[in-house]
Amino acid sequence: MIVKKENSFLMAYLEDSSNVKGGYADEVVIPENIDELCAFLKDANAKKMPVTISGGGTGTTGSRIPFGGAVISLERFNRILAIDSDRKSALVQSGVMVDDLKKACDEKKLFYTSHPTENTASVGGTIATNASGARSFKYGATRRYVRTLKMVLANGEILEIRRNRSVLSRKDSRIILPGESAITVPIPTYRMPEIKTSAGYYAKDGMDPIDLFIGQEGTLSVIVEMEIGLVDKPSKILSAFVFFETEEDAWRFACEARDISRSGRSLIDALSIEYFDHNSLRLLRARDRDVPEKFASAIFFEQEVRAGNREEEVLDAWIELILKYSPSLDNTWVAMNEKTAEKFSNLRHAIPESVNDIIRSRGFQKISTDIAVPDVANIEMMGFYSKTLKNGGLDYLVFGHIGENHVHVNILPKNERENLRAKEMALELVRKGIALGGTVSAEHGIGKIKHKYLEEMYGKNGIIEMARIKKAFDPNCILGLDNIFPREVLYLA
Ligand SMILES: Cc1cc2nc3c(=O)[nH]c(=O)nc-3n(C[C@H](O)[C@H](O)[C@H](O)COP(=O)(O)OP(=O)(O)OC[C@H]3O[C@@H](n4cnc5c(N)ncnc54)[C@H](O)[C@@H]3O)c2cc1C
Repeated sequence: MIVKKENSFLMAYLEDSSNVKGGYADEVVIPENIDELCAFLKDANAKKMPVTISGGGTGTTGSRIPFGGAVISLERFNRILAIDSDRKSALVQSGVMVDDLKKACDEKKLFYTSHPTENTASVGGTIATNASGARSFKYGATRRYVRTLKMVLANGEILEIRRNRSVLSRKDSRIILPGESAITVPIPTYRMPEIKTSAGYYAKDGMDPIDLFIGQEGTLSVIVEMEIGLVDKPSKILSAFVFFETEEDAWRFACEARDISRSGRSLIDALSIEYFDHNSLRLLRARDRDVPEKFASAIFFEQEVRAGNREEEVLDAWIELILKYSPSLDNTWVAMNEKTAEKFSNLRHAIPESVNDIIRSRGFQKISTDIAVPDVANIEMMGFYSKTLKNGGLDYLVFGHIGENHVHVNILPKNERENLRAKEMALELVRKGIALGGTVSAEHGIGKIKHKYLEEMYGKNGIIEMARIKKAFDPNCILGLDNIFPREVLYLA
């Protein structure tokens, strides 16, 4: 096992894309195999030493940033062990980069659906955060594809869970360990919204135990290996940018495209439906002068073209819908070849990247929302964002997964006074999202910066219930401290 203690080495593990400052650690350990990992954790547990798990470091909530103790880096768990075309699955170690897995699947004409726009994320990280992204509109979040997890618990014991083998009910909520001992899981009583969510532990009567470990943000176990479900690769992905004269036109177009896609009654069957407000377009124009200036908003959409599904007819169906909300097709860009499709995809990716650059240069922590609401509440929520942000007088932009009623608001303060105001505004948005039946985090998790939002959503009791689950798996409280809830809550559980 490699152990590094030099500051120059540690620095890279003290940040992610949240711009959370002040992280520190005594060492970074890089186990070469599972035996070394188990031995290290057994020892750390005995010493009650805090341990933070690091994946690709692309998280947006500070969850891989340590505040004391050791960091475990899983970079040596970097092998794709098998891709099985018949079972449509991949057996993967947790440190494999999403991009590498995608490329390997591609060679076998398979498709890994999890699509956080940041390809340098690790597969383990995407499971620990239940990542989703643009294409979860059609395919759902990471959770849906996780078939097996092999993990090491805080005390160094190995736990392997296969989906559909058992359920956790309030009457019998035990997870049996290999040595026949059992952990009783106190399933929380809060009700999760019936939309995609990465806000706190998954908890439902009758749940599959594997779901507890998806979206756990490195607080319950170290995920080392997983089997993931794949789908057939489409022959082509059609994509387009549509620019709109008003914000409302884009919102209504997106909602109609969403409903039509879900109904299965039309050729329209979107893979992703993404939104850009005027400020996002301005940011894109700085990268690509072709982005037109005069429009209030834009929608980017993708649709798979599969065998038996004629591209021209699909395009005609989209054109008909576009013309309901836009006076002409002059404001629409369609990717007619792979090069343009790649350009569109890069443009989409440029937004969070540019925002992260601005945040870093201004020196403040990222103030962004990750709220999703039910379908019926989307237009109301979009209106609330627009009104609150315009009245707020701060720099901001709104972009993201409107097809899932899940856009990201990023507020960009320039000084401490604006920073305080930005936090107040974000809280207002969060409260509105909760009031509309939504989640405070649909894909990024809670990490170290959204504790307050989670408490708004589930109440103090919900947070204490989560701390009880953590203590069931990690009684010495060493893993991922301050992720999901502050470490002080552990004393109350
Ligand atoms: C430009 C940009 C765009 C992004 N777009 C999206 C998007 O569209 N959708 C989306 O969902 N996210 C997006 N993200 C966020 C990020 O990519 C995801 O949260 C991703 O899942 C994090 O993976 P990671 O390997 O980088 O994890 P890290 O940042 O290293 O860690 C994240 C959390 O996972 C835990 N963890 C990591 N590995 C393990 C493991 N093996 N076992 C247990 N716990 C572990 C860590 O302790 C931490 O709590 C974006 C980020 C950037 C920078």
